[in-house]
Amino acid sequence: MTDIQSVPFVDLHLQHAQIAAEVASGFDRVLAEGSYILGPEVETFEKAFAEYSGVEHVVGVGNGTDAIELALVGGGIRPGDEVIIPANTFVATAEAVLRAGGVLRLVDCDHDFLIDVEAVAAAVSSSTRAVIGVHLYGQAAPMELLRQAIGSDVLLVEDAAQSQGARRNGVRAGGLADVAGTSFYPGKNLGAYGDGGAVLTSSAEVADHIRALRNHGGVRRYEHLAVGTNSRLDGLQGVVLSAKLARLDMWNQQRRDAAGYYDQLLADVDGVTVPRTVEGNEHVFHLYVIRTDRRDELVTALGAAGIGAGIHYPAPVHRVPAFDFLGLPAGSFPRSEQLATQILSLPIFPGITRGQQEQVVETLVSAIGG
Ligand SMILES: *Cc1c(COP(=O)(O)O)cnc(C)c1O
Repeated sequence: MTDIQSVPFVDLHLQHAQIAAEVASGFDRVLAEGSYILGPEVETFEKAFAEYSGVEHVVGVGNGTDAIELALVGGGIRPGDEVIIPANTFVATAEAVLRAGGVLRLVDCDHDFLIDVEAVAAAVSSSTRAVIGVHLYGQAAPMELLRQAIGSDVLLVEDAAQSQGARRNGVRAGGLADVAGTSFYPGKNLGAYGDGGAVLTSSAEVADHIRALRNHGGVRRYEHLAVGTNSRLDGLQGVVLSAKLARLDMWNQQRRDAAGYYDQLLADVDGVTVPRTVEGNEHVFHLYVIRTDRRDELVTALGAAGIGAGIHYPAPVHRVPAFDFLGLPAGSFPRSEQLATQILSLPIFPGITRGQQEQVVETLVSAIGG
């Protein structure tokens, strides 16, 4: 077994090598200007990312969780307002709702891991003020169907943390609803070298509100017009994000190619279901998530072979201890609960080699066969 090389779950060195020179000169600029927080590098990135995403405004903030919270507050959500989210998401989506003062209303997902539109239609009521579609694993939730289900008075929000560059019916994630929050956590498709996030919207009013909220409630120093917070993007991160944005489409294509190769390698493997791209979607494979009834065994086998594998996520929100207060027992959202026992994320990142992917699949196949 000693000749088996480990395959990391994600390898960010490959991306850094391509932008290292640009980042070094950009960092020199930030340090010379002393524009550590917000400033010209952040503004340059905000403009470029808005243009890329097909929205009018991008507001850089401290992280993705803040971005979703600020998207809700900027979009008019007030304490006590009910917000619908899918049960199968990273806890951050739920945290953002609670931090905004919202009342959480969970719904189940569909067979593609995305929020179930019919469940939303059944859950929406006169108390519903917002719905968050989570573009889980790198493909967009069906936002236009959600809009039909909820009507025009309910705020429609995207959790676009896993979907930078993804498209639905030709429109980029982040531009599919009233307002979106995204994350630049280093491992995301567009990742910074630390925490970062952004709100995307085409509403000038919402953007202005969030620009104030992220900076202690004022756009000019000591002019506090609202009680805000401190959630700002750093100049150094602006440099990194601009350099990476210029390569995002290329890197996403590499992810799609890698996903296609896994599909091919796994096509005849019994007991493994590969992910499906929903009609109308261009997937960016933030994660490549297979389903198998023998998940736990396979995780162990991959781990023993030095292969990074992940589970996104081991429990839906209502089965996470911190959310016991919701009082939702096992069985509340059967599809999300079943998927949580079956899902397995295989290594995927721009630059993963075919040899690495073959090694992953060989390990899976011998574990399944053995
Ligand atoms: C990463 C992530 C977030 C939160 O982003 P942070 O920058 O870590 O706060 C929110 N939602 C989803 C679906 C995520 O994957």
